[in-house]
Amino acid sequence: MKTEKSHKLFERAKNVIPGGVNSPVRAFRAVGGNPLFIKRAEGAYLIDEDDNKYIELINSWGPMILGHANTDIENAVCEAVKDSLSFGAPGEREVFMAELITTMIPSIEKVRMVSSGTEATMAAVRLARGYTNRAKIIKFEGCYHGHGDSFLIAAGSGAITLGVPDSPGVTQGVANDTLTAPFNNLKAVQDLAAANKGQIAAIIIEPVAGNMGLVVPETGFLQGLRTLCDNEGIVLIFDEVMTGFRLSKGGAQQILNVKPDITTLGKIIGGGMPVGAYGGKKEIMDFVSPAGPVYQAGTLSGNPVAMAAGLAMLNYLNTHPEVYTHLENITARICEGFEKNLKELGIKGTVNKIGSMFTLFFTDQKVKDFETAKTSDTALFGRYFRAMLEEGVYLAPSQYESLFISTAITEELAEKIVNANYKALKAVLQ
Ligand code: PLP
Repeated sequence: MKTEKSHKLFERAKNVIPGGVNSPVRAFRAVGGNPLFIKRAEGAYLIDEDDNKYIELINSWGPMILGHANTDIENAVCEAVKDSLSFGAPGEREVFMAELITTMIPSIEKVRMVSSGTEATMAAVRLARGYTNRAKIIKFEGCYHGHGDSFLIAAGSGAITLGVPDSPGVTQGVANDTLTAPFNNLKAVQDLAAANKGQIAAIIIEPVAGNMGLVVPETGFLQGLRTLCDNEGIVLIFDEVMTGFRLSKGGAQQILNVKPDITTLGKIIGGGMPVGAYGGKKEIMDFVSPAGPVYQAGTLSGNPVAMAAGLAMLNYLNTHPEVYTHLENITARICEGFEKNLKELGIKGTVNKIGSMFTLFFTDQKVKDFETAKTSDTALFGRYFRAMLEEGVYLAPSQYESLFISTAITEELAEKIVNANYKALKAVLQ
């Protein structure tokens, strides 16, 4: 595989961009080798600067659910661009967007647009604190909610241990207000709530976790959190930045049948443009400025071009429910193929899947939380990642990520992916 142009760009980038990339995981550090610089993408394919073409399973980390360069979305963007790129004043697309979101996700009665998933989660937590007049939050080990200070907290040892900052720059003061619990462990959360009675503003969770690899909630877990929050006056925040409009048109909460108080959104909602949103119960959302006292603002919030892209995407998903059946069938086919390959080659692996999201963990343990996810052989994953690239399939460059299927993956491409997986697994054995 020729990678000279990507390599040269990376060398230049390292001089002027920290680590040569604008988001850390893109640097390929978890899998070795240098990142590929992408020139273009179309349908199911990424094309790099050296003209290598890959079937891709990241889809910009989720947003491109209809594949790349989708005509509906591109046309909507081109139309919007003609009317200027930004107003900094209200526009009708923002109203259409809010109406569409509140229709598709009934737990959201009012919604505020922002420009990224990180902004959405930071604002949602501030709102929960303002609404409850409490300081602490509970998050789950291995869940990622963007790079807001409150979320960059690793687990302490034991459920009631205070958080420890994960990144220099996050103060101990901030860390003290973030408590962590293992995913799928309701008892641990109940204990935290009991030990901090009357102090917890919010529980924030990815209802289906995609950021420790894909981990699904066990039966009763989310419902248990809902009951706990109701009993203790805690705001339940579902971070559906990844799962919103992906697992169903109503998100994870629709298929799992649990309603949060606040939902955070991103990725698909922007159709590939930088967009996020947070919304929920009217009573809580009316605490947001200027309706209420909790301040939150944005120069480019509700940007008309971003709204046009997002509206085209959501309108399509809202009127084409067959998309979700197709995505689920293709994903099931790929996962079954992977499982068969692992068995045939005698490699330890666990495939977690739901809807159009899945992860192949290189462990024989059932993966149900961060601890079990960490039993994976990450060195083996690195070799597998590079072997898949050689086979023309571009994966997320880390074991601890979910892969995403787009509608551009046909049955024929699914077959190719399964075959590539077989060859790559065979290659890493040698
Ligand atoms: N929340 C979840 C569940 C995410 O997966 C991400 C990003 O991957 C974020 C929040 C942060 O979103 P953004 O990268 O748009 O800031």
